Amino acid sequence: MSVKIPSNPVSVENFVNGKFQKATGPQIKIMSPYNGKVIGEMNSTTSAEVDTAVKAAKAAQAEWAQVPLKERTKVMFNFRQILLREIDEISHLKSSESGKSFAEGKAGLMKGIEVLEFAIALQNMDMGGKVEVSRGVSCEYRREALGVVANITPFNFPAMVPMWTIPIALTLGNAYIWKPSEKTPLTSMKIAAALKEAGLPDGLFQVLQGGRETVEAIIDHKDVKAVGFVGSTPVAKAVYERGTGKGKRVLALGGAKNHIVLLPDANPELSGMGISDSFTGCAGQRCMAAAVLLAVGDVDKHIQKIVERAGSLVLGQDMGAIITKPQVEFLNNAITAAEKAGAKLLLDGRKAKAPAGLEGGNWIGPTIIDNVKPGSEAATLELFGPVLSIVRCKDISQAMEIENSVDYGNACSVFTSSGNLAEKVIRMASTGMVGVNVGVPVPREPFSFGGTNASKFGHGDITGHHSLDFWSNVKKVTVKWEKQDDGNWMS
Ligand code: NAD
Repeated sequence: MSVKIPSNPVSVENFVNGKFQKATGPQIKIMSPYNGKVIGEMNSTTSAEVDTAVKAAKAAQAEWAQVPLKERTKVMFNFRQILLREIDEISHLKSSESGKSFAEGKAGLMKGIEVLEFAIALQNMDMGGKVEVSRGVSCEYRREALGVVANITPFNFPAMVPMWTIPIALTLGNAYIWKPSEKTPLTSMKIAAALKEAGLPDGLFQVLQGGRETVEAIIDHKDVKAVGFVGSTPVAKAVYERGTGKGKRVLALGGAKNHIVLLPDANPELSGMGISDSFTGCAGQRCMAAAVLLAVGDVDKHIQKIVERAGSLVLGQDMGAIITKPQVEFLNNAITAAEKAGAKLLLDGRKAKAPAGLEGGNWIGPTIIDNVKPGSEAATLELFGPVLSIVRCKDISQAMEIENSVDYGNACSVFTSSGNLAEKVIRMASTGMVGVNVGVPVPREPFSFGGTNASKFGHGDITGHHSLDFWSNVKKVTVKWEKQDDGNWMS
C-alpha cells in the first residue's frame, strides 16, 4: 500500500492539560522524506512553557498516584482499543513523516502495542510482597510512582519508541512529559488524542514540541524526576551526563553499528533473506539494522543471494525514503570514500531513481560494499542508511575480534546451522542483544530491549520487568502492632 502523505501542512501543537496549543518558540518546518514537501509546521517550546507544563503535570500526578493500579490499567486498555481502531491512519501519518513504508509503520505501532499489553498485565502481576520477618513484625515492599517523568525520542520510530515508555510510566502512576523528534512530531498528536479519548485525566500526558533547548529545559526542571532518552550516541551521552549531573535517574539508549557473522554452513535462503531485509528495512534507519557483514570463509553463494534480494527492491514500495537530504548526501559521500579506499561495490544505490511522482524526496538504493577494511569508517561509523559493509574474515575468532573492537554494543547476529558455533558467537558478542539466524534480533516483550557500551548509558531496561525499577520507587514498610515477649531485637 502506498503511503498517504498530508497534502496540506499540519499545524503541530503541544498537548498540555488535555488541550492542543501552539508553542511560542522558534518555528520549525517538517518535511516528508517521500516528496520533500512541507507537511507540518510547529513552534518550539520555551523554557517558560516547559515550566507551566511540568507544574500542571505535578499537580495531576498527585491525584493519579491515589488511583488504584487496576483503575489505571483500565485507561491503558481503552488506549489499546483506540490505537487499534486508528492503526491505519496513524501508520500512514508516521510513515509519511519518517520515510517508512506503510507496512513498516504499522509493524512499529504493533510492537509499541505489545508494550501496552505488558503494562495492562501489570495489574495481575505480583507488584509487592509481604513477609513476617520476625514474630509480630512484617516487612512489605510497595511500588510508588516517581512523580513527573520525561522521555525524549528519535525520528526513526515516531510511535514505537515512545510507546516503549508511555504505557509503563503512566500505569505505574507517573505523569509523563514527551518531547518527540522535531523531524517527526505529527504522530504525537494522534497518540495524545487517543490517550485523552481513553479517559486519561488532563495533565498526566504532556507533549512538548521542540529540539535541543526544549530537551535541556525539561532535563533541568527540578520537578522532572527521571529521563528516558533514545537517539544518537553523542546526544544520549550528553543527556545522560546532564541529567545524572543534576541527580536524576536517566536511561539513554544510543546509536549502533551492528554486525552479522555469516558462516559457510548457513542456510543460503535464510541468510540471504534475513541479512538483506535487516540492512534495507526502514531504509537502514533503525538501530538494529545490519551494518557490517563479517563474512567468514567462502560465503560467496550466500552473498549472491543477499545482493539478488536487495537489488530487486522497488524504491517507494519495498523500501522507503531517507529522513533528510543532508543524510542522503552523507551516505553518498560515505560510499564514495569506501570505494576510494579500495572497497568494491556489489550494489550501488547512489544512482537509484526516485519513484515516479516522488522526485523531490530523499532517495538512495540498497548498497553493498565488499572488501571493506576493519577499522575503516565504513566498518565502524554509524551510517544510518541502507548500506551493508562486508568485511572478509578467515575464522570466527577474527570476526569476533572485529565485532568486539567497535564502540557500540546494540546487536550482533550469526547465521549458521551449527548450534555449537552459534553458542560461540553468543558468548563472544559484546552486544546487549544477539540473534541466531535472525537479521534483526529484536526481543519481544517482556524481554525488553537495549545494548551495551556506547549504545546505552545507564542501568536496567527501558521496558519489560526490569523497567519497573526505573519508572518507580520501591518503598519498604516494616510494621508491628503488638508488643512481643520473645526477646527478638525487632520484636
Ligand atoms: P538524535 O540524537 O539526533 O535525536 C534524538 C532526540 O534528541 C530528538 O528528540 C532531538 O530533538 C533531541 N536532540 C537532538 N540533539 C540534541 C542535543 N544536542 N541535546 C539534547 N537533545 C537533542 O537522533 P535521531 O537522528 O532522531 O535518531 C537516530 C539515532 O537514534 C540513531 O543514532 C539510532 O541508532 C538511534 N536510535 C537508537 C535506538 C536504540 O534503541 N538504541 C532506537 C532508535 C534510534
